[in-house]
Amino acid sequence: MATVVAQSEHRKQHGSASQREAADRCRPLPGVRNIGIIAHIDAGKTTTTERMLFYSGRLHKMGEVHEGTAVMDWMAQEQERGITITSAATTCFWQDRQINIIDTPGHVDFTVEVERSLRVLDGAVGVFCGVAGVQPQSETVWRQAKKYGVPCLAFVNKMDRKGADLGRVVAMMRDRLGAPAVALQLPVGREEDFDGMIDLVRMRRIGFDEESLGAKIRVEPVPAEFTAKAEAARARLVERVAELDEATLEAFLEGPDLSAEVLDAGIRRCTVAGVLVPVLCGTSLRNKGVQPLLDAVVAYLPSPLDVPPIRGHHPKTHQPVERHADDFEPLSALAFKIATDPYVGRLAFIRVYSGVLRRGQNVYNPRPAKRERVSKLLMLHANHREEVESIHAGEIGALVGPKTVTTGDTLCAEQDPVVMERIEFPETVISMAIEPKTQADKAKLAAALEALASEDPTFQVSIDEESGQTLIKGMGELHLEVLKDRMLREFNVQANAGKPMVAYRETIRGVGRGEHAFDREIAGARQYARIEVEVTPQDRSAGNCIVWDVPASVVPPAFRPAVEAGLRDGLSTGVLGSYALADVRVAVRGGEYRDDESTEIAFRSSAVMAMRAAIHDADPVLLEPVMELEIITPEEHMGEVLGDVNSRRGRVLDMKAEDGSQVLRAEVPLAELFGYATALRSLTKGRAVYSMEPKLFDVLPDALQDRILNR
Ligand code: GDP
Ligand code: MG
Repeated sequence: MATVVAQSEHRKQHGSASQREAADRCRPLPGVRNIGIIAHIDAGKTTTTERMLFYSGRLHKMGEVHEGTAVMDWMAQEQERGITITSAATTCFWQDRQINIIDTPGHVDFTVEVERSLRVLDGAVGVFCGVAGVQPQSETVWRQAKKYGVPCLAFVNKMDRKGADLGRVVAMMRDRLGAPAVALQLPVGREEDFDGMIDLVRMRRIGFDEESLGAKIRVEPVPAEFTAKAEAARARLVERVAELDEATLEAFLEGPDLSAEVLDAGIRRCTVAGVLVPVLCGTSLRNKGVQPLLDAVVAYLPSPLDVPPIRGHHPKTHQPVERHADDFEPLSALAFKIATDPYVGRLAFIRVYSGVLRRGQNVYNPRPAKRERVSKLLMLHANHREEVESIHAGEIGALVGPKTVTTGDTLCAEQDPVVMERIEFPETVISMAIEPKTQADKAKLAAALEALASEDPTFQVSIDEESGQTLIKGMGELHLEVLKDRMLREFNVQANAGKPMVAYRETIRGVGRGEHAFDREIAGARQYARIEVEVTPQDRSAGNCIVWDVPASVVPPAFRPAVEAGLRDGLSTGVLGSYALADVRVAVRGGEYRDDESTEIAFRSSAVMAMRAAIHDADPVLLEPVMELEIITPEEHMGEVLGDVNSRRGRVLDMKAEDGSQVLRAEVPLAELFGYATALRSLTKGRAVYSMEPKLFDVLPDALQDRILNR
């Protein structure tokens, strides 16, 4: 109990006490909700979002996922695949409150998207399937939400399906997610006959008129046959909240029959503090239960004033800086996503934390130390964009045509700069060769790749020096598939793609030396330079570095940049399979300069050649990406799962029992994990859950080296 009270004290001091607002705000700060909808794939996230937009009046025609018309899934391949990939930010209004919805993806290959969305949210709605309950991805995403301290509500969807059971899903949320889940409703009718619910806070029965697609709601007294059950359930709810919240406890001690307002306020404090997860139920597809969910978002999830101030640092002095949700503090905003729109061009999705972002203003981007002119601002709605003059503290919108902004950049006032913690992106681990089908596609392909890479920090493009092939690199199979698809649809590029391949690196196991003298006549003039280098292995994940170990007379400072450029060229292509080198220390140990003959080109070329010679001499070896895999499996499948991990060259880190399941953590080479989702599903009849993320690059066993290099 003490924790909740302490946290609400903290909020009082940092929250509404300092609330200051500009006159031209769209909605007052306490009426703003920035929420994400998180779910396992197929739980009904898109359908639920769609209904939220429909009932809040932003959509005139209801879209259906299975018909491929849902507007939140605005990219064509999402509609075909029926999955949601981009985090489109959408604004709608409910009870005069402004709800900004970030649609988060549910597939493991896109965890980066989920993480960056969670960074800018204040609260989340977890959608669960009423039959399947807590499923693998809901677990992964739920844990991410916890990591960022995002308060959550739960919506148990698909109550119309055979086998749907609200009580069981609530129990699963407690067991599997450790979530303090409490139902605020009792379902009326089961499965096909599911017909709305009893609202335990206001003790009333809510029904939905089918003719108006659920838009009309019937509110009636609790039917006699439900009275006893509903009263008992409400009493349990009140006790639960009173245990967690002091003000509710005080009211309860005065009389156990709390008013709806007092109970609502208690539920809100507990939810915002993360000690309670209110659970609602319904069926989005059959248009039941969505309006009460919207009411709950407004009633229980935090406004920007209810969350702790954002922290960052001063770009020059590195002193910590704190900013509050306040229109009159200096501007601070985070660009959390870059998108390319075929009509509008480049868009940066922005969350403003403090101050106001105004059209026509110059803002400062500390990363490149450049000013950015705000030429056009948009609010995004499900099916249209609205040009706006400003985006205020606590709001989400988009900046059109940013010149300097990339994902994770802070935009701020130049006089009062701040840099927020960057979103960290893992290194790419998978690659695929791609080539234009026709000569005409060649230029288009290059432009498309550049646009896509600028949107997505986990997508890279490079040219293989030997074959001249273009390689695209990313985080997983589906990630590259989707990007390939977008190239075709959005950029109209016809391209052939190879099979996905593991992105190896190279490193060295010993010390090596190399030298090269460049001595050539080019266009009648003699060009000369000589460089000598020594390479030494560094610890895993230490990175590469270049140091100078020669006096200025040997290589004059003016030529050092050319030498370094040559050494970096050398590091970018290894000697075994042309993979980039990692964890190598390069020391320039000697060289020769001639007054009339030495040129930058001569130095750069001799550096590349000396470098290659040194690497050859240093026992080069391939490195492979290794993933950290976490599998949660029912006890009875543990044996198969473990055997399978071992057969994939996995190394078990630990195993523990958790609420009747086994949790296995292991390091497994990515090369052994293609198609793992399917394999695990068939091993465990779909009952295991897994997540993985790139962990490190490790030396590949000798036998496998030869196989890869000779294929
Ligand atoms: P998402 O992957 O979480 O975005 O889920 P979708 O919204 O795409 O829904 C997945 C599938 O479940 C679609 O075929 C929907 O029509 C269906 N679905 C969604 N909500 C319900 C529901 O309340 N009841 C039933 N029976 N099906 C639903
Ligand atoms: Mg979806």
